[in-house]
Amino acid sequence: MEENKQIKLEAFKLHSNVYFIGSEAVSVHLIDTECGLVLIDTGYPNMGELILSNIKKLGFDPKNITAIFHSHGHIDHFGNTEMLAELSGAKTYISRIDNDIVNGTYDLSWAKELRLARLPFFSCDVLVEDGDTFNFGNTTVRCVHTPGHTDGVMSFIITLADGKIAAMHGGSFCMSDEGKLLYIGFTELPNETYYLVTQTGNHITFGGKRILLR
Ligand SMILES: [Zn+2]
Repeated sequence: MEENKQIKLEAFKLHSNVYFIGSEAVSVHLIDTECGLVLIDTGYPNMGELILSNIKKLGFDPKNITAIFHSHGHIDHFGNTEMLAELSGAKTYISRIDNDIVNGTYDLSWAKELRLARLPFFSCDVLVEDGDTFNFGNTTVRCVHTPGHTDGVMSFIITLADGKIAAMHGGSFCMSDEGKLLYIGFTELPNETYYLVTQTGNHITFGGKRILLR
C-alpha cells in the first residue's frame, strides 16, 4: 500500500535548460540538452503519471529521454526508472555502490520503511564513480561521491547550456561556501530546493567534501 501522499507541483523552469518536474515530496529534475533529455531521479513509484504529464506540459516528449541519473538508491529516487527507460530507451546511471541496492544485493531501498511494495530489482547501465563526467553537448554532468545519506550517494555538478554551473546534492543537506554556482538542489527537501547564491569563489562543500567547481 502506498501511503505517501504526493502533492503535485506544476513543472517549472529553474534556470537555463534545467526544469523541476517532481512533487513536493521529492524532486525530479529534467535537463534539456543537445543530446536529448536528461533526468535526475525518477520519484516515488506512484509519481509516474505526474512525471510524464510534467514533461509533456513543458513541451517535451518523454521518448526523448536519453539518460537517467540517480542520486542514490532509495525507492523514492528510482520509482519510475524502469518505466521511463523502457519508454525512451534511456541509459540509466547510478553509483556502483548503490547499484547493489537497486539490484537487490542489499535490502536498503527503504521500501519497507516507507511502506511501499518493493520494486522489481534491476541493474543500471552505467555504474558511475567519483569524478565521472558525462557530456551531453551543451551540458555536462559531473558525478561527485558524497556518501552519508547512503554509501553511494552521488551529487552532481552540472554545467548548463548558458555556461553557468548548477550543483545538486544527492543526499539531504549541503552548504555552499560562496561557490561559483547558480543553484543548489536538495533532493530530499524539494520545498527548499532552490537557492541562488553569489558567484564568488570557485568551491562548494558537499557533506564535508570541498569540491572545486571548475
Ligand atoms: Zn534517500
